[in-house]
Amino acid sequence: MGLRVSRFNDRFIIGHGKVGYLGVNLNVFLYSVDGLLIDTGPWRLANEIKPFLLAFPPKKVVVTHLHEDHCGLAFWINSVYPKVPIYAHGDRIDVSATEAKLPLYRRIFWGRRRPFRAEPYPNIVETDLYSFEIIHVGGHSHDHAILYEPKEGWLFVGDLFLTTRPIVAFYEEITYQTLQALHKMLSLDFSDLFCSHSGHHSNGRELITKKKEYLEELYERVRALKERGYALEEIDRMLFPKKPFIVKISQGEWSSANIIKSIEP
Ligand SMILES: [Zn+2]
Repeated sequence: MGLRVSRFNDRFIIGHGKVGYLGVNLNVFLYSVDGLLIDTGPWRLANEIKPFLLAFPPKKVVVTHLHEDHCGLAFWINSVYPKVPIYAHGDRIDVSATEAKLPLYRRIFWGRRRPFRAEPYPNIVETDLYSFEIIHVGGHSHDHAILYEPKEGWLFVGDLFLTTRPIVAFYEEITYQTLQALHKMLSLDFSDLFCSHSGHHSNGRELITKKKEYLEELYERVRALKERGYALEEIDRMLFPKKPFIVKISQGEWSSANIIKSIEP
């Protein structure tokens, strides 16, 4: 098995794995850019990711946020590459040092997230060839950051893109912050988008614009319905009548209600 490995260029390697459970299938993409590893992937894929990290040893690691599918192998990197720094949001260093308490469906789907040693994000992470700005934007989670390489026009967005038309969001997500994050992205001069679950997109700017427009339109519809006196639960049922399976499995950790409830600042 192993991850499917492709090269964006000589120094930029992309690892692609798949995770499935009860008919829910998700892709996971790891980016190893000139020795900088962006997210470690989930422990569930450890047998596939370890050979990748041994073949392309990281010199530095940035985790975009602390969800278990992004830092599941961080503790393993601590033990195999003890001198390699792992950067996370400054507010979450204590959290990274304790094991994440996960609901059963996440432990099964992604695996555990064991304690690991992290250091606070610097403003810029350098490799031999590239220089990445780390920009904290929140949105999907309080600690979420994006990485921007201005010379190359690359943007690594963790879980802030996923799709142009999301119908569910994670319970920690603050939709209006996600919208602000999309605005922030569009203020940067980028072309290539690298998403943790949908991979590389050369038309990144177009996709981020589409997602921004979708959320803005949704915001207007929610606001108009609120003005007419509808409650959030009613608005949710009107705008998202079909509930995908993930809502049930996750017992509401993922839902359309999570998009609606935080769409207004
Ligand atoms: Zn996440």
